[in-house]
Amino acid sequence: MVKNPSSIPRNTDQKQFLTILSREEALARFEAALFPWPVPTETLRLAEALGLALAEDVVAQVDVPPFDRSNVDGFAVRAADLVAASDLQPVRLTLNMETIACGSLPQLAVLPGTATAIATGGPLPRGADAIVMVEYTQPAEGAAIEVWRAVSPGQFVSSAGSDMARGEVVLRAGSVIGAREIGILAACGTAQVTVARKLRVAVLSTGDELVQPGEPLQPAGIYDANGPIVSAAVTENGGEAYFLGAFPDDEARLETAMREALDSHDVLILSGGTSKGAGDVSYRIIGRLGQPGIIAHGVALKPGKPLCLAVCDGKPVIILPGFPTSAMFTFHDMVVPILRRMAGLPPRVDAQTSAQLPFRVPSELGRTEFVMVSLVQGRDGLMAYATGKGSGAITAFAQADGFIRIDAFVDHLPAGAQLPVTLFTPQVKVPDLVVIGSHCTGLDLVVGKIARQGISVRSLAVGSLGGLAAAKRCECDLAPIHLFDPQTQVYNTPFLGEGMELVPGWRRIQGIVFRRGDARFEDHAAPEAVEAALADPECMMVNRNQGAGTRILIDQLLGQKRPDGYWNQPRSHNAVAAAVVQKRADWGVTIGPVARAAGLGFIPLTQEHFDFALVADRKERVAVQAFLAALLSPDMQEALERAGFSRAC
Ligand code: AMP
Ligand code: MG
Repeated sequence: MVKNPSSIPRNTDQKQFLTILSREEALARFEAALFPWPVPTETLRLAEALGLALAEDVVAQVDVPPFDRSNVDGFAVRAADLVAASDLQPVRLTLNMETIACGSLPQLAVLPGTATAIATGGPLPRGADAIVMVEYTQPAEGAAIEVWRAVSPGQFVSSAGSDMARGEVVLRAGSVIGAREIGILAACGTAQVTVARKLRVAVLSTGDELVQPGEPLQPAGIYDANGPIVSAAVTENGGEAYFLGAFPDDEARLETAMREALDSHDVLILSGGTSKGAGDVSYRIIGRLGQPGIIAHGVALKPGKPLCLAVCDGKPVIILPGFPTSAMFTFHDMVVPILRRMAGLPPRVDAQTSAQLPFRVPSELGRTEFVMVSLVQGRDGLMAYATGKGSGAITAFAQADGFIRIDAFVDHLPAGAQLPVTLFTPQVKVPDLVVIGSHCTGLDLVVGKIARQGISVRSLAVGSLGGLAAAKRCECDLAPIHLFDPQTQVYNTPFLGEGMELVPGWRRIQGIVFRRGDARFEDHAAPEAVEAALADPECMMVNRNQGAGTRILIDQLLGQKRPDGYWNQPRSHNAVAAAVVQKRADWGVTIGPVARAAGLGFIPLTQEHFDFALVADRKERVAVQAFLAALLSPDMQEALERAGFSRAC
């Protein structure tokens, strides 16, 4: 949505973060302003209480078991009768004329010299003090048994109250109710329990640009990711999330929504609009919602500096940063501990492992930094690849296995550092096949095929050179590469290191993209098209980053010319297409399948070789063989061709 320019505050209106608090200081102040918090409770039936924390101790109202009980199938006896019993000299006992099953009350006493048949769980009859297992007896003439094993008093008997004694505290307040706790409660006859009720958490997104998933995306619009993310994370942490929608950056409307949300919920969590910049209004409203208001605005976290923590008349109001990754980290690090404490739940415990860094990781001094990592098996243990694409990238979460934390006063972590990694999952999952290097949509087709065969694949996009370095360190099976050697005029082979083999992949046609109908390009061969573009001062290009294979091609096309747009140097094929589609540029160079998917006109220039450097040592692994078979299969070759790639040879 385009704003009326007069309504956009100028830079001079932007306040700065006056006081940035350390993460620890911000948390301490927030907790001091919020606690003690009167934990709201409710009484629920057992099944409804699953996952909630007990608000009170639970005291057993009966003994469990309620009577002395047999633990085995056998005979209730007097131990004293069997003192002399042995294989050679069995003792004969007369049977009482009853059998004690579960739930049946014994009628006859076990007198000296007698025994009563009893089932597992049967109540011990009067006079009996032990059970002899049926395996050590045999029927004898005249309604009797012979026993060839002595028993000690109390053997195979659970006495009344031995499991839980009446009056004993069987579960303490704060215990989280799971299946085992439900078992304990049911066994002592408890049908309902008083628990800390789920926190009612209102979730609200802010931003003029936000569009709900499922709706068509407007120009300059962004799908609202934080609403669903925060709601799900609240639920994962035992709360009840109420997503109230996305609101535009309109102070009056937002204030009404925030007041209503706060009236009927325990907690209010917003995202966006906290940066103290143009259009950021949410934090301004908080001061009017209740006392003491903002506790921390600006926390030394990366990502997540704009986090705003407030307490309004006893209820927490939190504004998470707008970028989804920042929102998630600040939520987990700063908000989850508070929500759990408010809900009477114990602190969250995340699984951890230890891994080594393949690269140096720089870090900003003065901010606690979280860096997402993907784990792969290296020569001497797990390696942690930083997957960060910046705080605006959401896919990093899907590729990451966990994160490392870099303390505020550390400015970098050296390559080779061994570090604790907090896992997103309960255990480390090392994939069957690791592919590290350049990315291509064709690769998704091959990986998709073997994934459907049940092979787990981790594919990390770190560029061709990064892939070769990983292959050299034996951290991947295959490194996808597309590197042109101008000296030999050969693709990829000259770049292979020791112990690597080239697996031919496919060819990608590079070409000029333009919007259909543009007479400067339509129906022209490449040299004329470039000439026309360069002759027109209005014609804007989009370039590629230094080091990209495509860039070498563009520089060859341009010679010494530096047309308008030359310094716009995005890092991907898709970004080139998007710039042309959105009219930020009129032409650029990208690969055929991307041009086709974007609906752009395409003038072919040359073929690029997209191949794989295979770590020879790992060739015989099942997953590698499956990859090679999938790559060469006729249906894959057809699928690649349909997607716009051509055969390697
Ligand atoms: P803000 O803090 O409002 O300035 O937002 C910072 C960045 O996060 C902007 O690029 C926003 O478009 C983006 N953003 C804000 N809210 C959301 C959301 N709910 N989902 C996805 N992106 C968002
Ligand atoms: Mg915003």
